[in-house]
Amino acid sequence: MQKKYDAVIIGSGVIGCGVAFEMAKRGYKTLNVDKLGDAGMGSTSGSCAIIRFHYSTAEGVAMAREGYYYWLDWPKYLEKRDPDGMATFRNTGALVIKTPVNKNLARVKTALNEFGVGYLEVEPEDLHHYIPNVNLASYFPQKWVDDPEFGQPTAHRINGALWVPESGYISDPKLSTHNVMVAARAKGADFVFKAEVTDILRKDGRTAGVRLADGTKIEAPVVVNVAGPHSYVINRMAGVEESMNIKTRPMKQEVAHVPAPEGVDWERDGYMLSDGDIGCYSRPEVGNYFLIGSEDPECDPRLWVDNPDDYDMNFTDQYKCMVMREAMRVSDLRVPNQYQGVVDLYDCSDDWIPIYDKSDLPGFYMAVGTSGNQYKNAPVVGAMMAGLIDSCEQGRDHDSDPFQFYLKYTRRTLDVGFYSRNREINTDSSFSVIG
Ligand SMILES: Cc1cc2nc3c(=O)[nH]c(=O)nc-3n(C[C@H](O)[C@H](O)[C@H](O)COP(=O)(O)OP(=O)(O)OC[C@H]3O[C@@H](n4cnc5c(N)ncnc54)[C@H](O)[C@@H]3O)c2cc1C
Repeated sequence: MQKKYDAVIIGSGVIGCGVAFEMAKRGYKTLNVDKLGDAGMGSTSGSCAIIRFHYSTAEGVAMAREGYYYWLDWPKYLEKRDPDGMATFRNTGALVIKTPVNKNLARVKTALNEFGVGYLEVEPEDLHHYIPNVNLASYFPQKWVDDPEFGQPTAHRINGALWVPESGYISDPKLSTHNVMVAARAKGADFVFKAEVTDILRKDGRTAGVRLADGTKIEAPVVVNVAGPHSYVINRMAGVEESMNIKTRPMKQEVAHVPAPEGVDWERDGYMLSDGDIGCYSRPEVGNYFLIGSEDPECDPRLWVDNPDDYDMNFTDQYKCMVMREAMRVSDLRVPNQYQGVVDLYDCSDDWIPIYDKSDLPGFYMAVGTSGNQYKNAPVVGAMMAGLIDSCEQGRDHDSDPFQFYLKYTRRTLDVGFYSRNREINTDSSFSVIG
C-alpha cells in the first residue's frame, strides 16, 4: 500500500466499490479502506438485492431504471471477468399491490410511463394467477403483532396490482461487489482490508487523507464516506455532520426465510411481491423459500441502533409479524417454529432518500443514507459520484450550482441537487424502504 493517493474511499461495499471503479476510470489513483476482511461484507452482504422501479419520487424511478441497464449489461459494463464468477440478474418480474400507502400507484404509473417501463394492470379477481392460494382481503391500515385486531381484515378486497416484468433480483450481492472490486483493480484501484479509519486528516482548510487504527497515515486530497451504517461515525470524525440538514442513523432490519407452500416451486416460478397492504415485500430464495422483508408500516416500532458495532443480532417480534402478515396474503405459507433469515442494518436518512453530495469540508464527499433501497442503484451511484467529485474538484460550487448527471442508458439528465445533505425533508417520500 502506498501512503499517497488521489482519493481514499472509506468502505468497500457495493457502492464504495462502484465509486472506486468509476473514479479509477477517470484516472484517479484510489484506495478503498475497509475494516472488514473482503469486499461486500458489510450491509451489502445482507441485502435482498431486489431490482424494482416503484419508488415514490420520479428521481427514485429514474435511478432504478438506469441501474437496471447496468445490471443487464454487467460483464460488458465492468470490462473484466471475475475469476470467482459473475453475479447474474434473475428476471422474475414484480407484482406490486395497489394500496392507499402508494396512492394506488397513480404517481408510480406516471413515472413508469415516462421511463418506458412496461407493466400490466392486474384486477383483484386475476390475482390468483400470480399468488398461490391468494387471500384478497385488505389489512390496511396494518396493526402491530400485539394489537388485538392484528390479522383482522379491514375490507374484503384489495384494489389490484401492477405486474412489472422487468424486475427481479441479483443472484449474490457479495459476489457482485467482488466483481466490481476486480474490475476496479484492473483499472488501477487499490484496496486494503482489516484496516479501520479512525480520523480524517485536514490541512489548509480541506481534507488531507485518513488515519488508520494502527496509526498509519494515508494522504489524499479527496476522501469519500461510503461507510454504510457507520456513515454518521465518519461524518462526525470529519466534523461535517452538525451542519447537515439531513442526517443518517443505523436501523436494524430482519429478513425472514420461510418454506414455500406445499406443491409450489417458488424458487423456480416465484417473483418479487411488494404488498404495501400488509406491509411486506418478498422474493424467492434458494431452497424453495420465501424471503420476506418489511415495508416498514407506520405502526411498527423502528429498531434504531446506538452502536452499529454492538447491537442485538437476534430476531424479534419484527420477524414474527412479517411472516404472519405474509401468511395473511399467501394462505398456505408454512410458518416454522425455528427462525431463519438475516439480521442487518440500514443506513437510514431522515427521509429514507440517500445523500449523494459534497460536504462543508472541501475534498470530503459522501454517498450515504441508502435507507435499505440503493443496492440496485450502486453502479449508477458510482458513476454519479465520480462525476460530482470531478466537477467539484475542478471548482464547481455544487451547493449553489448543482452538478447535472447524464444517465447514459436512459439518456436523461438528473439534478444531483435532489440528493443534497441540505435539502428539506422530502415529503413525497414513503418514509420506508420503498424510498
Ligand atoms: C437487510 C437488507 C436488505 C436490503 N435489500 C435491498 C434490496 O432488496 N434492494 C436494494 O436496492 N437495496 C437493498 N438494501 C440496501 C443495500 O443493500 C445498501 O443500500 C447497500 O448495500 C449499501 O452499500 P454501501 O457500500 O453503501 O454500504 P456497506 O455495504 O455497508 O459498506 C460499508 C463498508 O464500510 C466499512 N466501514 C465502516 N466504517 C469503517 C471505518 N471506520 N473504517 C473502514 N471501513 C469502514 C464497513 O466495514 C463496510 O464494509 C438492503 C439492505 C439491507 C441491510
